[in-house]
Amino acid sequence: MTNRHSGPTRFRGAVKSQVRPSLLSSQGNGGVSADKKVIIPRSVTVAQLAELLSMSHIEIIKQLIRNGVMATINQAIPTEIAIKVARDLGFDAQDSPKSAVSAAQALADARAESQEDAGQMRARPPVVTILGHVDHGKTTLLDAIRKSNVVAGEAGGMTQHIGAYQVDQRGQRITFLDTPGHEAFTAMRARGAQATDIAVLVVAADDGVMPQTVEAINHVKAAGVPLVVAINKIDKPEANPERVKSQLGEHSLVIEEWGGDVIAVPISAKTGKGIDDLLDNILVVAEVAELKANPHRPGEGVVIEARVDSNRGTVATLLVKNGTVKVGDTLVVGNTWGRVKAMFSDVGKPVRRAEPSTPVEVLGIEKVPVAGDKFMALANEKQAKAMVESLAEARGPKGPVLEEVFASITAGKTRELNLILKTDVQGSVEPILTSLEGLGTDKASVRVIHTGTGSINEGDVMLAVASKAIILGFNSRPEPGARRLAEGEGVDIRFYDVIYNLIDDIRKALEGILEPTIVEVAEGRAEVRAVFSTGKRGKAAGVFVAEGRLTRGSQVKVMRKGKVVADSVISGLRHFKDDVREMLAGTECGVALQDYQDFEPGDTLQAYRREKAGRAA
Ligand code: GDP
Repeated sequence: MTNRHSGPTRFRGAVKSQVRPSLLSSQGNGGVSADKKVIIPRSVTVAQLAELLSMSHIEIIKQLIRNGVMATINQAIPTEIAIKVARDLGFDAQDSPKSAVSAAQALADARAESQEDAGQMRARPPVVTILGHVDHGKTTLLDAIRKSNVVAGEAGGMTQHIGAYQVDQRGQRITFLDTPGHEAFTAMRARGAQATDIAVLVVAADDGVMPQTVEAINHVKAAGVPLVVAINKIDKPEANPERVKSQLGEHSLVIEEWGGDVIAVPISAKTGKGIDDLLDNILVVAEVAELKANPHRPGEGVVIEARVDSNRGTVATLLVKNGTVKVGDTLVVGNTWGRVKAMFSDVGKPVRRAEPSTPVEVLGIEKVPVAGDKFMALANEKQAKAMVESLAEARGPKGPVLEEVFASITAGKTRELNLILKTDVQGSVEPILTSLEGLGTDKASVRVIHTGTGSINEGDVMLAVASKAIILGFNSRPEPGARRLAEGEGVDIRFYDVIYNLIDDIRKALEGILEPTIVEVAEGRAEVRAVFSTGKRGKAAGVFVAEGRLTRGSQVKVMRKGKVVADSVISGLRHFKDDVREMLAGTECGVALQDYQDFEPGDTLQAYRREKAGRAA
């Protein structure tokens, strides 16, 4: 039987809805009230901004964190960030017109800027991530690069795996993150941390562009990171680099040789051929990007990985993005903090300081942070603890919710509505894309940053967090891990099985006439282990309840290979011979559905209830 449910429904991870301050300001009067006009001077500190807006500096710090900026009370913040924060807090914030800046102020600003940075900026090594389809040779390439280009003086050192390493290429350093794949890349970005400067896309010359290659391309594009293509396995007789080049063109990556701007280097990770050339090209791209940092300021950066070691306590690999981290520094790291007791390089050598783009293993952090957490050095423990508290409070919903899109467009926050589209079959992608393209208004346009077929996976959710996108599932459902992640990160996943409804929802969201929709709240998930016949009444499924609960009378979707095959109601629930009302996770039971019986072992039942959407006031 077909899926009878055709209305727009939504799975909103964070049902714990919160109205964001920015929305408060734009509701009711349809805009920002004029009395909240504020001119933001150039070079403003957190304390000054707090005073200007008559708010506590904690509120300002929280809003900064939501915008991915960590700053202490006396730290100067860039004008555009200050304006963004003020707008987020409901002010009509404007840049100060140049003429309004007094000469003295301009001089002071210039001096502060030059003292702070300009004169002390130094070139820093590029940080590179390797992405590509499984088995195309990412790990082999990472190993080959490391073995042949150990930083001078460190040859013979113990090869540690700390999540990143540095190599030397003609006297210049390159840092590689050695967790390959776009999941790690996007997971970092989802936490607001852009660790990568350059992405290397590995494509096997015998296999060509594959689904994960396309995913990687989309993730890199969404991040706006420059890309170098490594066409790998050219030692194989069946290698066909020309085919790879033309396939790349189909995904709008036109290589230099064909008049585009994408560098493609043929290599063999196995024999080492071409690797030197690849590294040289990475340096060329790095030079164009003019990567700089100021090693003379307190260190800050991002967590690459972290774990607990039974002897050494918390061990975290930090990548320094700016400044210098030294032994003895007090660091805030994500939701925790600590004093650096000891540091080790990527070859396990004790070091006392780590400069920009250097990965180091750090001991002395209180709790285990998460990859992608940011860190910064602070003056003392007291400041660190206060910062950790504001950080903990600042975590709110991250992604947009379709119902809010219009409000954020009118508040000037959204110009592009980012969408990720997952469909059951490839054939559905084109018609949906074509219809979506026509939807832009003069205020906002629709941008589909990724499409794919199959179920909605964790990578999709991470990409949604990183790009503030909404996920549209057309006959596609999330995998359990992806659903939990969406819940935690507050990503809006919406389900459709009629193209018209999907297009109509997006159109209404852009025009501000989206009715409150019905949300699907997940109640439980069960796996079908067996199918048995129940006499005249047809067939029932023997299931294992893996999560939540199954309740008689609840709505349930039957999922097969990521697709919805039926949407029905639980009409019977049995535990051994007893009719029961409800079964909880960890139990086995028999399930009968209204008007549906074509179960297959391996199917998943997803129980849910429908609720009217709406942000809790
Ligand atoms: P990953 O999944 O992208 O990390 O791929 P791996 O690095 O694990 O490589 C997958 C397989 O391809 C392994 O068996 C490698 O030995 C092989 N491989 C990787 N690079 C090359 C290459 O340049 N030439 C050949 N012939 N085999 C390669």
